[in-house]
Amino acid sequence: MELQIKNLSKTYPNGVKALDNVSLTIPQGMFGLLGPNGAGKSTLMRTIATLQDPDAGSIHLDAIDALHDKMALRRVLGYLPQEFGVYPRVSAEDLLDHMAVVKGVVHRGERRELVQALLEQTNLYSVRKRSISTFSGGMKQRFGIAQALIGQPLLIIVDEPTAGLDPTERNRFYNLLSEIGENIIVILSTHIVDDVRELCRNMAIIDQGRVLFAGQPQAALNELKGRVWEKTIEKAELAAYQQQYQVISSKLLAGQPLIHVLGPDVASAGFRAVEPSLEDVFFSTIQRKAAPAAHV
Ligand code: ADP
Repeated sequence: MELQIKNLSKTYPNGVKALDNVSLTIPQGMFGLLGPNGAGKSTLMRTIATLQDPDAGSIHLDAIDALHDKMALRRVLGYLPQEFGVYPRVSAEDLLDHMAVVKGVVHRGERRELVQALLEQTNLYSVRKRSISTFSGGMKQRFGIAQALIGQPLLIIVDEPTAGLDPTERNRFYNLLSEIGENIIVILSTHIVDDVRELCRNMAIIDQGRVLFAGQPQAALNELKGRVWEKTIEKAELAAYQQQYQVISSKLLAGQPLIHVLGPDVASAGFRAVEPSLEDVFFSTIQRKAAPAAHV
């Protein structure tokens, strides 16, 4: 099974080009779509989910032409949107039951079994009678997955699922996703590098509507091998370092900036070589695009 996205473009009426000739091949398993805010991730997710049309391009899930046969795509799709909107004051069990009816599971007994299995799978069985409006962020996200799994989808799309979750909730959510991602396609859109590092066999980085990298996280890491250096500097020195080196990231460590730079051997200037991280990949990729010729 494979999702083939070809030459997808979308310009909103206000002139923002949210997708600029996006082509991606997404195989079975967990696929991470990584990009900063405003990169075009939600636009791409909504387009794949058949909720909005592109200006140009095509999307196929094996033989299904998603843009022309939306109903066929929807039958095999589970979608967990970024915002679920208002959570109703009904119990998790009742709402799942209702959603199963809407998705065509009309037989009562079958539905009861399905709802129970989904509640167990997402670890919500013990709170099934509670109103969803009282759930924590992590519980709401797991409920979102439970509803997305109704109808045994072949493709699941989750848009920014871990934003706002605490570390324990995030871990639990990761485990759930990796379990369901084994046999189907799961696309995880996120601006959080850790989400992709922990879960995804394949990934793409997008920014300003363009695909800047597509492939395996390890391949991206290999490209950077031997080229990432770090140094702790004084705050006042940051601007000067940014002038002289290709600083790909700067974060505070015990109050002092720890910078990562990309480039040839700078050990003589007091830098230490570091093993590249996916965060280095992400920042160096989106910067290369912003300032193509100046560095590297
Ligand atoms: P992301 O999910 O990566 O944050 P989006 O797809 O939401 O990115 O947005 C991509 C770009 O398109 C942004 O510049 C955003 O402001 C713009 N955009 C998104 N939705 C609309 C819309 N309905 N109308 C106009 N511009 C939009």
